[in-house]
Amino acid sequence: ERKAALAASTGPGATADGHKVPLLANVGGPADVPAAVEAGAEGIGLFRTEFLFLDDSKKAPSEEKQVEAYRQVLEAFPEGRVVVRVLDAGADKPLDFLTPADEPNPALGVRGLRTLLDHPDVLRTQLTALAKAAEGLPVYLEVMAPMVADRADAKAFADACRDAGLQAKFGAMVEIPSAALRARSVLQEVEFLSLGTNDLAQYTFAADRQVGAVSRLQDPWQPALLDLVALSAEAAKAEGKSCGVCGEAASDPLLACVLTGLGVTSLSMGSASIPYVRATLTKYTLAQCERAAAAARAADSAEEARSAAQAVLSGE
Ligand code: PEP
Ligand code: MG
Repeated sequence: ERKAALAASTGPGATADGHKVPLLANVGGPADVPAAVEAGAEGIGLFRTEFLFLDDSKKAPSEEKQVEAYRQVLEAFPEGRVVVRVLDAGADKPLDFLTPADEPNPALGVRGLRTLLDHPDVLRTQLTALAKAAEGLPVYLEVMAPMVADRADAKAFADACRDAGLQAKFGAMVEIPSAALRARSVLQEVEFLSLGTNDLAQYTFAADRQVGAVSRLQDPWQPALLDLVALSAEAAKAEGKSCGVCGEAASDPLLACVLTGLGVTSLSMGSASIPYVRATLTKYTLAQCERAAAAARAADSAEEARSAAQAVLSGE
């Protein structure tokens, strides 16, 4: 039965009543693209560009090398959407030549966009390479920054994109609670939001994503996390802009329905999860997803949130 459901699940992501929720793939480089195409991804919702920087521990890859890698990914989705995240160095993704070695709390230190603003040459080369890679392609390029804390961060990133002559939409990842709480202010500077729920959970619960002992607090069903998702999605709606999810949360089919009910406009996940999420989403209407989302937010724990959403969706 499961196989049949998956086989029947093709085409764009949508609820039973036709509310569209584009299902996008998370990729770490050109090697992941065939699986995304195979799974019927409607585009790339998170292109993690760190892989390019892992070959050489002393310097950033050349502009030419970057253009080549970006072009391979962009060409795989002609006329589709490709959301590229600029380098997210530091904390769980340290890079020798960029990450300060002496920080007592690397996850709270100079990482993500903070690193790039301290090394404007690295950001500029990456943005220029993206602009060149997209030249002449019909692809719908979006570029986003990791670890945006506030409007000033969003502005600094958007300015850098404009200075590099990038013809793309500029966005901010919501991975820090301050960005979710003040999403409307962040949206004055950028055109879309993308929730990185892995880091957003880490920072909301003060629970290191690399420490198994605190994994209970990393559960994306935590109602506090759902509240921050809702705030971000509501702000984006009020500003007429989009708000996707590209963290692990999007790959849980039931949670994908809840996120849709919270107002999230696209879901990006590892390609292997796309058929499952598509098959589950198509079983429920938007109104059912909204009721499941309200029930989950009314709960007091991740476990209760999950069972409350499940109960609503199975009509109990
Ligand atoms: C996230 O934090 O949810 C995210 C998508 O980014 P990464 O896992 O690469 O930090
Ligand atoms: Mg992150």
